[in-house]
Amino acid sequence: MNGKSKQFNLVLLLATVSLVWLVVVGGCKKSEPEGPTVTVPKVDTVTAVAGEQTMCPVMGGAIDKNIFVEYKGKKVYFCCAACKEKFEAEPEKYLAKLPQFKL
Ligand SMILES: [Zn+2]
Repeated sequence: MNGKSKQFNLVLLLATVSLVWLVVVGGCKKSEPEGPTVTVPKVDTVTAVAGEQTMCPVMGGAIDKNIFVEYKGKKVYFCCAACKEKFEAEPEKYLAKLPQFKL
């Protein structure tokens, strides 16, 4: 009887030790990816937003993504069809207001 209960205690002790070890290792794994992933994507999003057009170059209103022309391979969006016509008549006049042509 005594020998059996001692063996049982040893198994319990081993199980507890391995559980603690798993928690410690799991905790280490959790903290590892936090460092590099937090800082890297911020740079990418800033550059992507900087080149994105949000305002009509003619009237300065909010753009309608259904109204656009392709100029020099890039899409230029407008707030209404009248602005699109004005841009097509004199595109150079409005290029300074377009972030996608400021590069
Ligand atoms: Zn307009």
